[in-house]
Amino acid sequence: MTENLFIAGERRASIDGATFTVINPATGRELAEVSQAGTSDLELALSAATKAFSGAWPRTSATTRGRVLYAVASGIRARAEEFALLESNNTGKPIGDAHWEVEAAASTFEYFAGAANKHLGEVIPVTEPGLNVVLREPIGVCALIVPWNFPLLITSWKVAPALAAGNPVIIKPASLTPLTALLLGEVLVDAGVPAEAVSVIPGPGRSLGDALVGDPRVSKISFTGETATGAHILQRSAPNISRVSLELGGKSASIVFADSDWQRSADETLMAVFGNAGQDCCARSRILIESKIYDDYVNRFAEATRSIKVGDPLDESTEMGPLTSERQRAITLEYLDSGLAAGAEQLSVRSDSSTPDVNGFYLDPIVLANVDNSMTVAQEEVFGPLACLIPFKDEADAIEIANDSPYGLSGSIWTENLGRSMRVARGIRTGVLSVNTNKSVRTETPFGGYKQSGLGRELGMQALNHYTEVKNVFFSSE
Ligand code: NDP
Repeated sequence: MTENLFIAGERRASIDGATFTVINPATGRELAEVSQAGTSDLELALSAATKAFSGAWPRTSATTRGRVLYAVASGIRARAEEFALLESNNTGKPIGDAHWEVEAAASTFEYFAGAANKHLGEVIPVTEPGLNVVLREPIGVCALIVPWNFPLLITSWKVAPALAAGNPVIIKPASLTPLTALLLGEVLVDAGVPAEAVSVIPGPGRSLGDALVGDPRVSKISFTGETATGAHILQRSAPNISRVSLELGGKSASIVFADSDWQRSADETLMAVFGNAGQDCCARSRILIESKIYDDYVNRFAEATRSIKVGDPLDESTEMGPLTSERQRAITLEYLDSGLAAGAEQLSVRSDSSTPDVNGFYLDPIVLANVDNSMTVAQEEVFGPLACLIPFKDEADAIEIANDSPYGLSGSIWTENLGRSMRVARGIRTGVLSVNTNKSVRTETPFGGYKQSGLGRELGMQALNHYTEVKNVFFSSE
């Protein structure tokens, strides 16, 4: 059976009948056949969204929009099993992680449901007699372009604030992982979002995505993916002066000082690198360790890595499944070779587990010690289960190494010294930092990057700023 497109509330085959195959990375075999949107399907989605923007949704009260989004959260929870199974089968992520992400997606809709009528304007005192108000208004058709590492969750980060602010949405999921976005389309419309305000159009980024982001009817683009694609989207959309927010790559550092509870850091940093098989823009893929504790930390980290259970994503006890694509596994192995050629040392970290299916895209965690930050493997985003362990001398050295990266998305500081944690937090050019923990993402707080890690912020009340225009209105009392 073919998974059809979701255009303006309706499941339909693509107009030219094209389809593509989606693979289960745990088996390397076909998971589903999916309709592939082409330019005619895009046209349908754009016309419907444009109509929706002049229709009821932007004029619906924020309170009512919020109620609809609460119903979306309930709709996701009602179909949580279905969402989690689809996500795990399509990405290779462990089923336990998939369940967590489905619940986090529901919570994201809940957050923006409550936020919809709390995104306040302003009253500004001015010198002229009268009243000056600043209004926040919906922005227009939103093109939401999603990657394959957290398909449902990242879709929810974009769709929930876009709808809360009164905009219609067109979702372009990654070609590797389109299934949960299609299901979400159904949930949105069942919950009461007007049909014309929602389309989900799987298809090739390089043609379909490109046409979408270059279309003058699109007012807002929110993209998550590779930095080079983000730069291209900026150029492509420039003639239309579209509003663009970008969440791009990362090469985040976890900085571990000798005065910290470094044993806890070693244990917890493990899944901050190898969680989601390292396919995480926030992965702490550079672990900077103070020289005094370097050897002890490396031993502890390698030992802990041996206990990670790599295996069948549908087994509840699995901690790391296969990578999402054969290509991503090949890229990771190329970075391993490059690190070894540059002089890094690979530690023996055979995991506890055996590969359940030789055709799956499995890879054991890779730990590289004695990495120099100038090596390619420490500078570029690998997006696979590969950790670089890098020694540093002192506080100033740690800050310098952490900042010596084209990226600036997230990071961690491990220290028991309060003053040091403040100095280092201020010294690091990154959008999200955690002290004595590795968690980067909270629904209520802004998430996004410095430097080549992006533009704009997702989540928290700040996300709503990116889905609204600001209108200043002055009422003269003369
Ligand atoms: P891309 O940036 O190519 O893809 C992300 C999304 O953008 C997909 O939906 C893709 O569609 C779409 N897309 C691709 N080209 C265009 C375009 N010209 N216009 C509009 N949309 C487009 O990432 P990849 O999937 O190719 O992954 C490559 C690398 O990117 C990874 O190895 C990783 O390093 C990084 N990455 C980072 C992510 C992050 O969270 N920061 C997430 C994913 C990847 P389609 O799938 O059809 O190509």
